[in-house]
Amino acid sequence: MSTAHNAFPSQSATGAERGALRGALRGARAYWEMQKRCAIIAGSVNVLMLVVFHIAGLDALALFSVGSIAAYALAWLCLQRRHNRLAIGLMCAETVTHAGFGFLLAGPESGSHYYLLLFFPALFLGSSPRRAMLPAAAVLAAYVALDAWVYAFGPMALISPFDQALMRHFNSAIIIGMLSYLAIYYRKRVVSSERQLRAWAGSDPLTGLANRRHMDATIRALDADRRGGELAVLMADIDHFKSINDRFGHEGGDMVLRRVAEVIQGCVRDTDHVARWGGEEFLIILSATPLHQAAETAERIRRAVERIAFDELSCEGAPLRVTLTLGVAERAGQEALQATIRKADEYLYAGKHGGRNRVCRHADDPGRRALRQG
Ligand code: GH3
Ligand code: MG
Ligand code: MG
Repeated sequence: MSTAHNAFPSQSATGAERGALRGALRGARAYWEMQKRCAIIAGSVNVLMLVVFHIAGLDALALFSVGSIAAYALAWLCLQRRHNRLAIGLMCAETVTHAGFGFLLAGPESGSHYYLLLFFPALFLGSSPRRAMLPAAAVLAAYVALDAWVYAFGPMALISPFDQALMRHFNSAIIIGMLSYLAIYYRKRVVSSERQLRAWAGSDPLTGLANRRHMDATIRALDADRRGGELAVLMADIDHFKSINDRFGHEGGDMVLRRVAEVIQGCVRDTDHVARWGGEEFLIILSATPLHQAAETAERIRRAVERIAFDELSCEGAPLRVTLTLGVAERAGQEALQATIRKADEYLYAGKHGGRNRVCRHADDPGRRALRQG
């Protein structure tokens, strides 16, 4: 049986686009949430620095930390009010001046310049390599200039090697913590985005069922695992669906597709697999199910669909009713599932020729009566 492809890509695209937009908005929100957390963490780090610098007798740096705490508090407020650019500008300016001041005052051994390292992942993760290149080069140039200055004139404050080591270890610990946090955050984001994309790629936007791509992967997995036991395949197709579209428009047709998909899903177990195989065709794989049980399930689905009353789509004063024809086949021995699907498709054809609205499990016996007797 020929498989009708989705004739209304615009409808699907709308669903997919809506999903992608939702995802992008969630991503953007998460990014600014992370920036808020960064502002809080950086502010708290500066409180710690204030204490450390005060103990080390570096009151100039301690005073600087007070300014930094104020800068991060302001940045947090800006983020809260969605003045995002201002917040990022403040945070960048604070990091550069703080790292630079610490470096000039306490020298390279203090590890103050380690904070400049934070810019590189943030720059390259936050924008395209082309846009990030210039600010990255500027940060690098600033570091080289600071280093040259301190090499030529020495640090501004006389700090004992012990205090320098203390500052270095403190700064290393902070940088390791912040870079690890960034890495953990991005890993989480990548994993959840990938999961989301997989879900979108594998589902039909109209009905929410698995799509053909997803079902193909399921078929390959079931073929690879032959220990699964008996498997049965149902191929179901809505009868005279074209005329439903003709009478009620594509939106009416889409509503029918959604309801039928819901009803089919409700008639099978969680362990079974249901997919929208084509336009108005559904493929159902029943795990651990012999032929007679599969035929019963097919009949249950047929009856359930027959019972749906589409109140919104009135037909000569009564709610529209639709019917379904199903072909049922059982996997024979070790045959590939595609062969079983072909058989189910053949029986579906036979059911259509036999008059529709029926379950058919033999190519030469397209009647519902045959099912009851069999
Ligand atoms: P039969 O009983 O022999 O199956 O006849 P039929 O009219 O159901 O089958 P046919 O293959 O002639 O028509 C299927 C129609 O399904 C044609 C196509 O426009 C429609 N269709 C395919 N995808 C969609 C969709 O996503 N939404 C809607 N509304 N219609 C669709
Ligand atoms: Mg049809
Ligand atoms: Mg069809």
